[in-house]
Amino acid sequence: RRCYSTAAKGGPSIAGVSDIIAVASGKGGVGKSTTAVNIAVALAKKFQLKVGLLDADIYGPSIPTMMNLHAKPEVSEDMKMIPAKNHGVQCMSIGFLVDKDAPIVWRGPMVMSALEKMTKGVAWGNLDILVVDMPPGTGDAQLSISQRLRLSGALIVSTPQDIALIDARRGANMFRKVQVPILGLVENMSCFRCPRCGEKSYIFGEGGAQRTAEEMDMKLVGEIPLEIDIRTGSDEGKPIVISSPDSASAQAYIQVAEKV
Ligand code: ADP
Repeated sequence: RRCYSTAAKGGPSIAGVSDIIAVASGKGGVGKSTTAVNIAVALAKKFQLKVGLLDADIYGPSIPTMMNLHAKPEVSEDMKMIPAKNHGVQCMSIGFLVDKDAPIVWRGPMVMSALEKMTKGVAWGNLDILVVDMPPGTGDAQLSISQRLRLSGALIVSTPQDIALIDARRGANMFRKVQVPILGLVENMSCFRCPRCGEKSYIFGEGGAQRTAEEMDMKLVGEIPLEIDIRTGSDEGKPIVISSPDSASAQAYIQVAEKV
């Protein structure tokens, strides 16, 4: 894997954590969390790295479901929350702390203080890499996370659809503004292969991510198909990299993880 130089950025922003990378999307619902989960698990299982996963999607935390973790975190002697572990990855999510059906109606400063607690108030231990599932969009929270956490890089997720790609460009530009290197663009739901006849359908369009990547001077680092097993894996808390590691989709995620 790539070697980052957190030292050049003033050292790690969380003690013991070598690198922090963001998985981001301009638009919601494009598969950002699914990608973050599968990449984190691939980094831990395939590359034997010590990996953490932070669910920074405060208003719509998905990590508890996708990683099948639901208990409230224990607290260490020095009053830090102990991350919950599954599939080899240590996880923290606001979803562990609030009731599942309760609306999260916090304003900006509360979001920021929650994020502060979920990063620096967590007993992460020594991690090679912390993967951050970012909130969608390019607002205040995203900017603060990028700057405060001194991100080593950001992976942008988009579907091939124009409305998603427009927002992905915004996301990429935001990271560039704050000098966070873009690790690449992941095209999610790139095509659907009919399980009966094998015909491919490009439901959200074809070639859009490749074009956007070229225009924005980013690398297209992966093309993940639209597939039932990816969705069921997420819903059942067993990411496809675990439930079906030899499948083409799992291999596609592993290839992205390799480039991180
Ligand atoms: P986001 O984090 O961008 O809001 P999610 O990762 O939560 O998006 O994905 C949105 C929905 O789409 C989820 O139900 C997820 O299971 C599903 N999904 C994501 N990627 C795929 C895919 N490649 N194939 C099938 N379903 C997917």
